[in-house]
Amino acid sequence: MKALVKREAAPGLWLEEVPMPEVGINDVLVRVKRTAICGTDVHIYNWDHWAQKTIPVPMVVGHEFVGEIVEVGANVNDFHPGQIVSGEGHVVCGRCRNCLAGRRHLCAHTSGVGVNRPGAFAEYVALPMSNVWEHKPGIDLDVAALFDPLGNAVHTALQYDLLGEDVLITGAGPIGAMAAAVCRHAGARHVVVTDLNPQRLELAQRLGATRTVDVRHEKLSDVQHELGLAEGFDVGLEMSGSPAAFRDMLANMCHGGKVAILGIPTEEMAIDWNTVIFNMLTLKGIYGREMYETWYKMSVMVESGLDISPVITHRLPYTEFQRGFDAMLSGEASKVVLNWES
Ligand code: NAD
Ligand code: ZN
Repeated sequence: MKALVKREAAPGLWLEEVPMPEVGINDVLVRVKRTAICGTDVHIYNWDHWAQKTIPVPMVVGHEFVGEIVEVGANVNDFHPGQIVSGEGHVVCGRCRNCLAGRRHLCAHTSGVGVNRPGAFAEYVALPMSNVWEHKPGIDLDVAALFDPLGNAVHTALQYDLLGEDVLITGAGPIGAMAAAVCRHAGARHVVVTDLNPQRLELAQRLGATRTVDVRHEKLSDVQHELGLAEGFDVGLEMSGSPAAFRDMLANMCHGGKVAILGIPTEEMAIDWNTVIFNMLTLKGIYGREMYETWYKMSVMVESGLDISPVITHRLPYTEFQRGFDAMLSGEASKVVLNWES
């Protein structure tokens, strides 16, 4: 089969012929229809420091996908060929305290599809049945391919009550923009999104941000005043990984404000802990998605009208993956969807 492979320890990806994945007795084999490029894939493409210490080569990469089941292992009863599915990209151990207690998203021994085990940028991918999510009939395949990053947005956004709340999202990358849509869908009042890229702010607005802030030209505290939020934001979603953005967020939260942190800073960062303490803020780190409550909520929200499709800026056949990666690298793309059927 064809697959996008990190063939050697160097920048780039290679479209190659590789053996079909092995299908274990607990596995499901999926014929991939669409995939989407994640920031993680760009790190792997660039072969940065994180990728060098994380990715064994050769490795089929990619973890955002949708496809059709074509074969199931002997132990699999609940899935069958023909079902349209995506995969949870974190494969958990099943044996640690958190896994045994049903808190699988807190597993300390996860492996990653397309990171430490063969990925989905391929004609076929095999996954444990416990990592398979069946889509509702009729779902748009391009949207279904985004369930992994949409899950990051949903898991972060739904940490706290949003109904009637004023939300600040720092970072209008694809995840921040999708989070804006989720917050509106969940009944937030103001959804303010910051970035320093006008194209990305425009996208966040299309997805439902009620006010966007280019932090190069405007101060968040002024916007807060303009909106009449005398006491600050109720809920903060950090989705930039930028220390400056995070500090700005902390300074603009209300007393008792609640913050969920998804963005990954590239180095240690200092914050003003006095603000956290005296303003009695709650800070929570977020990784991945909750298995499978996040997936359930995503399916139901999409079914009930949540539309995240504007976040897709590029749709390409998989053979043109290089154009897709170039668009990601230039910052011109938000989500790039590759079609494996054409
Ligand atoms: P992205 O890099 O595309 O988006 C980040 C955005 O933040 C960019 O648009 C950038 O312009 C903006 N930004 C940079 N500095 C800023 C500042 N000072 N103020 C406001 N905005 C600023 O990333 P993404 O794919 O949307 O993901 C969002 C973040 O979440 C990234 O840090 C990513 O690494 C992280 N992430 C975490 C998990 C997890 O499980 N914790 C999963 C996926 C992604
Ligand atoms: Zn575990």
